Amino acid sequence: MSTLQHQIIVVGGGPVGAAAALALSQQGFEVALLERGSAPPAYDPAGYDLRVYALAPHSARLLDGLGVWPEVLARRASPYGAMRVWERGPEHALRFDCADTGRAELGWIVEHSLVVDRLWAKLDGVVRYERAAIESAVFGEAGTILRLSDGRELRAPLVVAADGAESQLRGLAGIDTVGWGYAQRAIVCHVRTQQPHRATAWQRFLSSGPLAFLPLADGRCSIVWSAEEALAQELLALDDAAFLARLGEALEHALGEVLDATPRISFPLRLLHAQDYVRPGLVLVGDAAHAIHPLAGQGVNLGFADVQELARTLAVSRDAGRDWAGLRNLQRYARARKAANLEMLTLTDGLYRAFRLRVPGLKAVLGLGMEAVGRLGPLKAWLARQAANA
Ligand SMILES: Cc1cc2nc3c(=O)[nH]c(=O)nc-3n(C[C@H](O)[C@H](O)[C@H](O)COP(=O)(O)OP(=O)(O)OC[C@H]3O[C@@H](n4cnc5c(N)ncnc54)[C@H](O)[C@@H]3O)c2cc1C
Repeated sequence: MSTLQHQIIVVGGGPVGAAAALALSQQGFEVALLERGSAPPAYDPAGYDLRVYALAPHSARLLDGLGVWPEVLARRASPYGAMRVWERGPEHALRFDCADTGRAELGWIVEHSLVVDRLWAKLDGVVRYERAAIESAVFGEAGTILRLSDGRELRAPLVVAADGAESQLRGLAGIDTVGWGYAQRAIVCHVRTQQPHRATAWQRFLSSGPLAFLPLADGRCSIVWSAEEALAQELLALDDAAFLARLGEALEHALGEVLDATPRISFPLRLLHAQDYVRPGLVLVGDAAHAIHPLAGQGVNLGFADVQELARTLAVSRDAGRDWAGLRNLQRYARARKAANLEMLTLTDGLYRAFRLRVPGLKAVLGLGMEAVGRLGPLKAWLARQAANA
């Protein structure tokens, strides 16, 4: 049996894990990345990945600091400068324009496969274990031991769990979660519309759930249609012509007819929050710590904010000569991120619940986007109360 020692082992090579490995390596830590699957396939611009993210400016800044953002922009990213949000009648939509925020754009729609490919391309200084299965883990103040199914043993003062919402490490550490399924499913595909998207994110709140049309760089839109399970299954089973017609009606033809669509994929939706983010020798980041309804497009953005905070907290402590991997230091990270993530989870859940109250006009007001809602102090407080009382 071979034993391999590292300073930090990041488990999970999705967007958040790969960003964590790169950020920590760039801070001068000796880092290993362990992924149960293979390295991501090379990004293929000929296809347009169905899994896209609405990246917020702070995520772009993180990726820029990692040297990845210019490479993403050079390949394909779709900046959007406006949002239109409505409940009934697109002519009554609330409008948000980047000019109002003093920024050149509100965010970018980027492909998951491109972000992951560019992050992995920069991992030269990181030891990689691919197709590696963890069999057991021992966590302690002296560090963590991971035993792999091939008999190898990996040791490090700190393991970062970035292994997604089903996190194996979170389970092995006995960290409980709170949360619930929404009994909703998000249907995702790319569509071509009769009218141009005008670099605008379009979102309509239907009583069955929100429908978003996000602008892609090739003129199409990526749709995310959240619907209760039975309706989602009905929509998934429709033939193309019937689905396009339903989609056009659901958006109230704000972009004219929907002309064609790629095959549809779907994801179940849920809220999940880890009760603790840290254990001796272990820290959770990304979906391993929190999963959120996609209506506010926040999932990966929260994960990138975790990465930023973790890299900063560990480096500051190490530079001050303190025990950077000690529980006390890890708790600094946990305090900062848990509060911020909980606030976003609560707000998003409050928005979801508020849509279902069917208060006329309210749903549209609530569709402002998390940042705008955050500026509406009383509404934010109301939403938080709603969620707290639920
Ligand atoms: C329909 C939908 C739309 C969304 N839209 C947006 C959006 O617009 N904006 C946004 O910010 N977010 C969005 N999200 C959320 C976003 O997809 C997630 O927040 C993001 O993928 C989380 O990244 P992650 O790296 O934490 O986890 P994941 O992407 O789940 O990656 C986990 C990685 O860990 C690996 N792994 C898992 N278990 C193990 C193990 N035991 N050992 C080793 N490796 C392991 C996996 O193979 C994978 O590579 C959306 C989600 C859905 C469902």
